[in-house]
Amino acid sequence: MKGYKIAVLPGDGIGPEIVGEAVKVLKTVGKKHNIKFDLHEALVGGASIDKYGISLTDDTLKLVKQSDAVLLGAVGGPKWEGLDYSIRPERALLALRKELGLFANLRPAKIYPVLADASTLKKEVIDGVDIMVIRELTGGLYFGTPKGVTKLPDGTERGVNTMIYTTPEIERIAKIAFDVARKRRKKVTSVDKANVLETTELWRKVVIKVHKEYQDVELNHMYVDNCAMQLIRNPKQFDVIVTENTFGDILSDEAAMLTGSIGMLPSASLGGKVGLYEPIHGSAPDIAGTDKANPIATILSVAMMLRFSFNLTNEADAIEKAVESVLNKGYRTADINQHGMKLVGCKGMGEAIISEI
Ligand code: NAD
Repeated sequence: MKGYKIAVLPGDGIGPEIVGEAVKVLKTVGKKHNIKFDLHEALVGGASIDKYGISLTDDTLKLVKQSDAVLLGAVGGPKWEGLDYSIRPERALLALRKELGLFANLRPAKIYPVLADASTLKKEVIDGVDIMVIRELTGGLYFGTPKGVTKLPDGTERGVNTMIYTTPEIERIAKIAFDVARKRRKKVTSVDKANVLETTELWRKVVIKVHKEYQDVELNHMYVDNCAMQLIRNPKQFDVIVTENTFGDILSDEAAMLTGSIGMLPSASLGGKVGLYEPIHGSAPDIAGTDKANPIATILSVAMMLRFSFNLTNEADAIEKAVESVLNKGYRTADINQHGMKLVGCKGMGEAIISEI
């Protein structure tokens, strides 16, 4: 029997509820396909601050590093908002990314035909949209030095950030994009601003070089301003989009909103030995503990884990198909509910998906 060790970090707010359902889905898939998922739960974020005084303990970090993958809920909430930035729950996420060397963030934006009305765009524009945005996560403008704000002799101030990318940093993210495209429709759009920014001129040059080893994948290039426009105008043209950190931060949110429902969107962060999987939304303190959260983003994050960390394609497909089938049957949590549908809570949605698997 195949076996995988998974660190489960539910976190705060709705985290424990949505992760609870995702874990049940994982166990069901394991039982059905004879795979052993060895699950180890630990505290992270505010829950860890409350018990241990810090958002990520050495023990949790050790567990995570010794696992094959990590499933995370969400962290943060009003209770910890008064704390200094250096010790807030969200610091745990930055530390995990850094410690695990997670330099690639994958965010799919897929339209389910039965939910097309939830989008703010016209049905004919978004029908069939299935995009994977791959954002470089550890380089570029957010980390480059020099950075900071300094006082000038005339009393005014000067702010600086620096966008830096080296050849190896671009090569490794480009490889991930081409590898992911091979598991999809084999098309990569590399997004840059090579007409203005030298850093991204290098980005384009390196992506073209890496592409030589992936001639079965189609590559095109797009300036970031045009990409922002094309995502709204004709999103169906995209399969995989790969881009640097800041552009990716913005474009991945834009792509996500094509679908119109934050509770549906999973993500994966890859790079090192251990991948991290989590919904893109936060801890939703406004609905925590009320059984109203949509667990689908977290359940689809489990599907991504099976696909990208364990290469369990059939099992990942089975989860995604179960989600689609439950939606087709009219089950809806409050965030995606429409007139005449079957309103269920977090648990009810989990149960419906499990019974489809
Ligand atoms: P949020 O994503 O938690 O919530 C935004 C809105 O979407 C809320 O109205 C919420 O009820 C709703 N929502 C989110 N997920 C949902 C789901 N699964 N089902 C149904 N409705 C859902 O963003 P926020 O309110 O800006 O942040 C709340 C807290 O979460 C903050 O402390 C923030 O720092 C934290 N946060 C954490 C992460 C993370 O852990 N990765 C990401 C974003 C925000």
